Amino acid sequence: MTVLFSELLVPGWAEGENAMIGLNAVTGIYGDDNAFTLPCHNSDPEIFFSDKSEEIAYAKSLCAACPVKKQCLEGALSRQEPAGVWGGELFEEGVVIAVKRLPGRPRLNQNLVATA
Ligand code: SF4
Repeated sequence: MTVLFSELLVPGWAEGENAMIGLNAVTGIYGDDNAFTLPCHNSDPEIFFSDKSEEIAYAKSLCAACPVKKQCLEGALSRQEPAGVWGGELFEEGVVIAVKRLPGRPRLNQNLVATA
């Protein structure tokens, strides 16, 4: 399936006249008239914003084969993406993180319990 990027605008955190972002915002290199097939546009977009580690890992694996991975990551860093997998990396509050921390209180460290 080929998708026009101009049709793939993403509503979300952006405000003002750029309230939606498309491929140009992601990569900064392609025009609106181009049609491409990217892994994230042929997959469930929810996995790129999932809380589940296995879905995040799958999203990252899809990015690995993406022809604009480098540009996507550079764009996400420059925009300080608040969440999601971009360019093969997981973002939270504008920075790349290794693992997504789930809501709620962290588990007690077993070493601390043993010495208490
Ligand atoms: S690197 Fe990942 S998120 Fe970015 S355009 Fe490619 S598949 Fe989509």
